[in-house]
Amino acid sequence: ILARIKDVCKRNGLLILSVLSVTIGCLLGFFLRTRRLSQQEISYFQFPGELLMRMLKMLILPLVVSRNMFPANLVEATFKQYRTKSIPIIKSNKASSESTTRRIIIYGVQDENGSNVQNFALDITPPPEVIYKSEPGTSDGMNVLGIVIFSATMGIMLGRMGNSGVPLVSFCQCLNESVMKIVAVAVWYFPFGIVFLIAGKILEMDDPSAIGKKLGFYAITVVCGLVVHGLFILPMMYFFITKKNPIVFIRGILQALLIALATSSSSATLPITFKCLLENNHVDRRIARFVLPVGATINMDGTALYEAVAAIFIAQVNNYELDFGQIITISITATAASIGAAGIPQAGLVTMVIVLTSVGLPTDDITLIIAVDWALDRFRTMINVLGDALAAGIMAHICRKEFIKDGDEHFSSWQTL
Ligand code: ASP
Repeated sequence: ILARIKDVCKRNGLLILSVLSVTIGCLLGFFLRTRRLSQQEISYFQFPGELLMRMLKMLILPLVVSRNMFPANLVEATFKQYRTKSIPIIKSNKASSESTTRRIIIYGVQDENGSNVQNFALDITPPPEVIYKSEPGTSDGMNVLGIVIFSATMGIMLGRMGNSGVPLVSFCQCLNESVMKIVAVAVWYFPFGIVFLIAGKILEMDDPSAIGKKLGFYAITVVCGLVVHGLFILPMMYFFITKKNPIVFIRGILQALLIALATSSSSATLPITFKCLLENNHVDRRIARFVLPVGATINMDGTALYEAVAAIFIAQVNNYELDFGQIITISITATAASIGAAGIPQAGLVTMVIVLTSVGLPTDDITLIIAVDWALDRFRTMINVLGDALAAGIMAHICRKEFIKDGDEHFSSWQTL
């Protein structure tokens, strides 16, 4: 038995450390709350967690650029070779552009001169100085969608350039490999950082006794919705399409889910999601490098669910009776608003303004839910990351026949899962 425990610990060491660090962080945070630390002491305490966030953010830009650009010849080949199989990706982009149109219309309600329509177009064609956006709500958010579009376009063009594009292709390949090596070393710091990230957040939050009973019910409703979506709906979709065991797939990305729980940011979790999908679930890297960054930007199931529940909660607090049409409006605008939310902590709280405005609810009441948002954000980010990872798994399944033709080395391991 001892040998078996040793073997399990060896194989899942990092995962066990991450679970332990979440638990220790919670216990430490609640214990230190009783000690009434000064603001200065709290900020020292939060320092290791801040360092973890910076490490993750540092890796996103080189990772997204190199992942989308480096196999330039392959991108071109993939587009040619898998034209038929790429249709689902293109279709989903079409669907998202329809949602985007809705988003633009919704934004238009707020801004009559239509400047947000222009903003969206500007976002996806960013000059270097706006790679990091500095708008409210996306203050420290990276313009991942803009970067993905730029890098993918560069990749396709490099692929068409033939031999003259090779130096840049090799550069991106090296960049990609070196970033993954940094990730492999940095993951050992994560458990330590997670302890302080979580404990620091608990130290900062308002007095829990001030949170009303209603707010408690609201939080429980959001968590239950997320659990149903994450444990039943998403895995069932995965199972029906791929006929593979979703539990095995989810086990492979547990590390990424824990990082999402600790950081509240799907963008910051990207490097770990990549690592888990490639190393544990053996998803084809061409699929992962395209689906994950796009997913981390526009596919936010958890955020959409939370925004809809929060809007209904605010309506109830104001004794505002919602009719069926308004509930449908909330569902549609919550989906559109979640697409607009950046993959950073509490971005969904900001885009909630869109949902509330669409049915005439007071936007000031967002302050009512701020007290519990730091915790709900963690759970919805986990579901956002889970949705992206399962989407990549489903895409890998749809494209599997092409991998067989291709003799791809990833395919045989993927098939056995
Ligand atoms: N924190 C979420 C994410 O990064 C976005 C949000 O709902 O606030 O996916």
